[in-house]
Amino acid sequence: MMIPTVTLHNGVRMPILGLGVWKVTEKEQLKNAIKAALDAGYRAIDTAAVYGNETEVGEAIRESGVPREELFITTKVWNSDQGYETTLAAFEVSLQKLGLDYVDLYLVHWPVKGKYVDTYRALEKLYEDGRVRAIGVSNFHIHHLEDVMTNAKVKPMVNQIELHPKLAQTEIRAFCREHGIAVEAWSPLMQGGEIFENEVIAQLAEKYGKTPAQIVLRWDVQSGIITIPKSVTPERILENSQIFDFMISDQDMKRIDALNENKRVGTNPEKYD
Ligand code: NAD
Repeated sequence: MMIPTVTLHNGVRMPILGLGVWKVTEKEQLKNAIKAALDAGYRAIDTAAVYGNETEVGEAIRESGVPREELFITTKVWNSDQGYETTLAAFEVSLQKLGLDYVDLYLVHWPVKGKYVDTYRALEKLYEDGRVRAIGVSNFHIHHLEDVMTNAKVKPMVNQIELHPKLAQTEIRAFCREHGIAVEAWSPLMQGGEIFENEVIAQLAEKYGKTPAQIVLRWDVQSGIITIPKSVTPERILENSQIFDFMISDQDMKRIDALNENKRVGTNPEKYD
């Protein structure tokens, strides 16, 4: 299955679906998950320095034999490395661990107060030097984005935020749309469990002959949101990719939109502010 792409504001094409690998540190499990994803047609992998698995991600993609230019690898600078020089140094460490000579997307992981503007300046430098194909941020609220954009020459291409039917992030999405920043959903499945039990999601799964996970992920991509569900189970990795062969009606999309409760499963970014 060919996975559709989103064109970032600098023209780089990013797959709309990728594999998240947070908490996957056991080498064989990670390699099997990446192999299952690549076999299913995924080409994007979302890691981060703090996930502690960049080395294994690098090994897995090298062993896969998939040409580098087909892959889209995201990693992120961790909070303790934020600041201009320290970010430049952290990038070299990530690149070395991954065994790559560039990454496709480099993100500021969280908006650490007093540091994220300098951190983003370092990302701009890496972008200008051709070390990364795209740069962006993660967990940025509108005021953080405004802050960065006031100081930046290059607008972030992506904002990766917690987003799922219970946390629709309507205002940030509208702001990003206005500024040409692609939105990427983390914990799109609310880390498993609760969302699959939701009555509306279950009804729609039945109606469309799909699983609850597929309904939620289809809602993402049909809303133009890049999504990176995590799984280490090959069957689920495949299942999560089988979302491009059906459409949810406008009316049913609105029923999912209406599930918003502004409910988080992860940290509120204001904690770092
Ligand atoms: P997720 O919402 O993707 O949920 C993953 C869990 O859902 C799995 O562990 C499994 O229990 C379950 N699951 C997956 N597919 C399923 C299926 N088809 N059927 C039933 N259950 C299924 O959670 P996540 O890992 O928190 O988020 C995804 C990715 O987002 C992470 O791996 C990471 O790459 C990224 N992330 C980024 C940040 C950030 O601060 N930028 C924070 C959290 C996560």
